[in-house]
Amino acid sequence: MKKKLIFVDFFAIFANNIAMKKFFAFAIMLLISITAPYFPTQNYSLLHAETQTCEVPIIMYHSLLKSKQSQYITSPDNFKRDLQKLKDLGYQSVFVQDLINYCKGKADLPKKPVVISFDDGHYNNYTYAYPILKEMGFKANLNVVGCYCEFSTTSGDCDNPNYSYLTWQEIKQLQNSGVFEIGNHTYSMHKYSPRFGISKLACEDEAAYKESLTKDVLRLEDKFKNECGFSTNVFAYPFGKYEKNSGEILSQLGFEAFLTCNEGINKLTKGDAKSLSLLKRINRTGTLSTEEFFRQNKIN
Ligand SMILES: [Zn+2]
Repeated sequence: MKKKLIFVDFFAIFANNIAMKKFFAFAIMLLISITAPYFPTQNYSLLHAETQTCEVPIIMYHSLLKSKQSQYITSPDNFKRDLQKLKDLGYQSVFVQDLINYCKGKADLPKKPVVISFDDGHYNNYTYAYPILKEMGFKANLNVVGCYCEFSTTSGDCDNPNYSYLTWQEIKQLQNSGVFEIGNHTYSMHKYSPRFGISKLACEDEAAYKESLTKDVLRLEDKFKNECGFSTNVFAYPFGKYEKNSGEILSQLGFEAFLTCNEGINKLTKGDAKSLSLLKRINRTGTLSTEEFFRQNKIN
């Protein structure tokens, strides 16, 4: 009983004595600073690296035209203003391949990465986007539709910025330039009917669907290999349409990143390849000014 009283008295004195409090605080700080080098800091940094995340906007363009603007047509001037705005905000463009490397834990990304993405393979990407990207020091992802490029190459009707598509020769040149990274947008499934994009037909069973998708996508891969001398592991879903098992089928063919038309900014986790299965893209509506587009989509 007496012992307990002494104990209580001691803490009462301690609690009321400011000088004593200061002394103990100083002693604790001193102890931490002396012993800090012996703490296992390496384990803490490893833990941090494993949970590293990165926000990545992917801006989606289609056609660039001087004469007309719409939901899928942006003017070359606005495109250049977009790149300048990204530069001013401190963004650095990367390829989808860089996102793959990051999500597989093989590499880091710049502090503020952005992906510039083009769909369908318009010839005006070659005439307008290519020189602007080079001038501004940007790179871009470009997903082409095989049958459009085959028509351009074989028909010779290939050099009108208003409606032509890229030839295999131009695709080869763009891929080799280091400015563009080419992706697969199907050979001939970029249609509204009989199926909408790569969607499964009601009359198809799983095996028939898998065979149709595989055959079409590999047809474009064969063209890339034989006409252009490269292969790709980036796939863009036509119209952003996908099935619950399409990612699995395409993964078995070697694809590692999948671009959708789901709007939003991606949050990727280093070492987590699942982050790549449904990458979001923000459509660059051509009717908005650069300032309006950035503000509406919270790219800052
Ligand atoms: Zn498309």
